[in-house]
Amino acid sequence: MKKKIFFLLLNVVCFSVFSQVEITENELKDHILFLTSEVNGGRYPGGKANKRVVKYIEGEFKKIGVIPIKKKYKQPFKAALRVEKGIDKKPIVKTCNVIGFIEGSDPILKNEYIVLGAHYDHLGLGGPSSKSDKKNTIHYGADDNASGTAALLEIAEKIASQQQQLKRSVLFIAFGAEEQGLLGSKYFVENPLVPISQIKLMINMDMVGRLNDQKQVYMGGAGTFPDGVNFMSELGKSLGLNPVVHAGSVGGSDHVSFYKKEISVLGMHTGGHPQYHTPEDTIDLINIKGEKQVCEYIYKTIMKLAATTYKMTFIKQD
Ligand SMILES: [Zn+2]
Repeated sequence: MKKKIFFLLLNVVCFSVFSQVEITENELKDHILFLTSEVNGGRYPGGKANKRVVKYIEGEFKKIGVIPIKKKYKQPFKAALRVEKGIDKKPIVKTCNVIGFIEGSDPILKNEYIVLGAHYDHLGLGGPSSKSDKKNTIHYGADDNASGTAALLEIAEKIASQQQQLKRSVLFIAFGAEEQGLLGSKYFVENPLVPISQIKLMINMDMVGRLNDQKQVYMGGAGTFPDGVNFMSELGKSLGLNPVVHAGSVGGSDHVSFYKKEISVLGMHTGGHPQYHTPEDTIDLINIKGEKQVCEYIYKTIMKLAATTYKMTFIKQD
């Protein structure tokens, strides 16, 4: 009998020590290491490396208890790739978004969705969007956007562990082919899997790995939901961050596709840098500790909006 109780206790202790439902620096780093590994070749859309990355995201979703919304995590689509000036035929490849779901528990509000998104693709060996004169060199995209993809997985894990608190439902989307012209998010808003009018907010993370010493977290779109600017400023400050909050300035990444459909959005990032779209955007320049803080900020944002009856309506910005 005593033995039984001992093992029961051991189980409880092991569960709390080893189940990493918290957002951890180690896990963030492991995700970024995988995403930026040589074998994934800069995460260009189409082909083997793309498939490997997608499989990894699917595997993580499964492991942390984020389920597919329509039986499959993958939402396949065809992407026409950017070409150098003077070439008019764009190659078309098959790629996909990877979508996970956590259902809310309020009988009415569970039919409303908050989307957390990040693109997982990057520039491969460079191509027309590269800012570097080094041709045919792996563009690792550690900040752009292995950082956002890692954040997506870690935040999803923590939210999944708090599912019983959610009133609204949450969708986690790793977008494909963002660098080719927001193609994954454009495809999703035309084929949204849930009624699009029920998506109350889309939070996008694109380049969240380079938090500076002033701890400035930049965001656009905070004025697109009620009291959003104040809400994001106060929450960020309470966590020791220095939020730079814009009511409008909706641009630059996948949240634009949602904003065009009159959905409230927040586009989060930690600022530009000289390594942007060059082979030098590598993991050694990522501020992992800072990224964890940004993740906690976004996690708390979602919980405060999805686990409450916070009034969500779309407010257009100029
Ligand atoms: Zn990006």
